[in-house]
Amino acid sequence: MATSPNEAVIDVLGCGVCHSDLHVADGHIGRTPIILGHEVVGVDNRIGPVMVYAPWGCRRPECRECSSGKEMTCPDSHEAGVLDNGGYAEKMLVPQRDYLIPIEGLDPLQVAPLACGGLTAFRAVRRATSRWESGRRARALVIGAGGLGQYAVQFLTRSTGAHVTVTDPLPARLAVARELGADVTLAPDDIGGEPYDSVIDFVGAESTLQSAVMAVRRGGVVVLVGLFGGAVPFGLGRLPSEAWLTTSIWGSPADLRALLDLAQREPLRHVVEHLPLDQANRAHELLRSGQSRGRIVLTIA
Ligand SMILES: [Zn+2]
Ligand SMILES: [Zn+2]
Repeated sequence: MATSPNEAVIDVLGCGVCHSDLHVADGHIGRTPIILGHEVVGVDNRIGPVMVYAPWGCRRPECRECSSGKEMTCPDSHEAGVLDNGGYAEKMLVPQRDYLIPIEGLDPLQVAPLACGGLTAFRAVRRATSRWESGRRARALVIGAGGLGQYAVQFLTRSTGAHVTVTDPLPARLAVARELGADVTLAPDDIGGEPYDSVIDFVGAESTLQSAVMAVRRGGVVVLVGLFGGAVPFGLGRLPSEAWLTTSIWGSPADLRALLDLAQREPLRHVVEHLPLDQANRAHELLRSGQSRGRIVLTIA
């Protein structure tokens, strides 16, 4: 039960299953034992239907990251479902009431993946587009058309009007990217031609990161999101002059609020499958073996 006025205990309606859940379960990140789950939607008895902001920071006044509203880069974070108990449960304790964001008018079991997958793609797109000049149609390249890439295509086409190219080795995923509004889809070997203002790498392997650096224009931006652990040399003459290379991690509370505003204005497409909470292990198997089409959301009866 909640013990301080800042805390809330919500009734969980559903929780998205994220690849990082597998890494926590395998003991590679976070801590065990733990209640997994950081894509949580539920009902708060005061606010109604809510989404939980999950990258909880330390909130100490001397923490520069938390004080500037970037809790996801707090060096002393305690993210839900990774370092603190999360949402694979009927009830969840949330340490600050302002981590609860209203989702009035949205279907909670469809939008749950926005809490991590959608938010991470949203911030990456914001970082990729923040230097674009107005008045000309920018060109963006999205590497990887899985769940995050699918969201990025929608954010780019709906909120920037950019020309969007998507690359992925799987033709079925490229077909989804075209349905979501991508202008051009390519197999990874076919990247080339006119350089891009921004490249977002949702894979992060050595090969994709190399492609990203080769494809960006001089002064353009490469945003690295994917966790495959690739690296590229950084040096004069090794990448296009004055190109910007940056990582992007999860998202801030302000990013999540802006994302949910967008979702309320523009119907986004969520490629989601549902399974009951007691099938959580099966959900993990599906994710591990690459058999899921989009994101899986566990439903709490
Ligand atoms: Zn996640
Ligand atoms: Zn902090």
